[in-house]
Amino acid sequence: MDHFERRCPRLGGNVSFHYCTISGDADIPCFKIFDCWWEYFDVVAYLKKTLTEEQFHRLVNSKPKPKVASLVDLIGQAKKNSKL
Ligand code: SF4
Repeated sequence: MDHFERRCPRLGGNVSFHYCTISGDADIPCFKIFDCWWEYFDVVAYLKKTLTEEQFHRLVNSKPKPKVASLVDLIGQAKKNSKL
């Protein structure tokens, strides 16, 4: 699934599913991952299997940040990932 791609409604360009799994706060995926991927595959089952119970709970209860703050975070994360 990591290679799946879709247009990111927050960034405007294509991102891989892998990117979505690492672009959230701390060690959890982006808070929109359920909304963005449910039509492609069973993302809930996948994340239940791959995250710890505590990470999954935090993800389900994560809230969106104000748009500017989350954009700044996404840009910072993209810069960090481009150096890997
Ligand atoms: S899950 Fe987040 S990073 Fe991934 S496409 Fe959706 S909004 Fe973009």
